[in-house]
Amino acid sequence: MFPKLGQGFVVVVSCAWNFPYRRELYDWELIEEANLIAALSYAPPLCNENADYLIWSNDVAAHTQFSVVDLYAHSSSLLGPNLRICKQVWNSLLPPKVSFFCWLAWKNKVKSSEFLHKIGLLDSSTSTLCPFCNYEPETNIHVLLHCPFSWLIWSSVIKEWGLQWCISSSVAGLFHWWMSEKFQKYVRIIWRALPLVILWSLWKHKNDCVFSKAQPNFPGLLDLIKFRSALWLKASVKDFPFSVDDIVFKWKQIRGSD
Ligand SMILES: [Zn+2]
Repeated sequence: MFPKLGQGFVVVVSCAWNFPYRRELYDWELIEEANLIAALSYAPPLCNENADYLIWSNDVAAHTQFSVVDLYAHSSSLLGPNLRICKQVWNSLLPPKVSFFCWLAWKNKVKSSEFLHKIGLLDSSTSTLCPFCNYEPETNIHVLLHCPFSWLIWSSVIKEWGLQWCISSSVAGLFHWWMSEKFQKYVRIIWRALPLVILWSLWKHKNDCVFSKAQPNFPGLLDLIKFRSALWLKASVKDFPFSVDDIVFKWKQIRGSD
């Protein structure tokens, strides 16, 4: 798929190649030159009137002129539905650390206690149970979605937005469902930011429980998710019409303003 030069890049005279060497060629170099000229004879005909440009070398665009637009369209076509998740995850309105974490979560690459135990970074005496429920192993998908504590966080947020959901089997499934809900402009900005803020906040809270001996705090975490959403969006969205109070305390009214 990579582009290559489409027209001649050495001046040609009467259809013969003339390479201006600075010294006599050795015998082995003459063979290489002959091979090069043979290869060039299969190239498209040169046209001295036209400027050089890049063309596609395969079937992507059938030897048409290279453009960044073509490259982007081709890359997008290969991503399929994942392109929408990419756009969702790499949300420019939130701190890059949040997007990066959610990208890892989407790819199931977050280093959970179970993983660290498996590779020997945690000794066998260290608990690998989820610190929220102390029942299931601490895997990514459990902590971020399937733990009863996490499920309650997701369900509470979704209920406040007047929606119903069915728990997803993966972070990708969650994103797909999330993007299927349609809102207008500023309300959509909040809605699109929420899953990223929730994923990030759940993981941070899990770490507080593991490393700082904090206790799972449902109302505290729910408030923190709202505050984080409000502060990050207020800082990055120009002329954002909602106040921090609106976002923290008046989700239902915001939803109704759509
Ligand atoms: Zn759990």
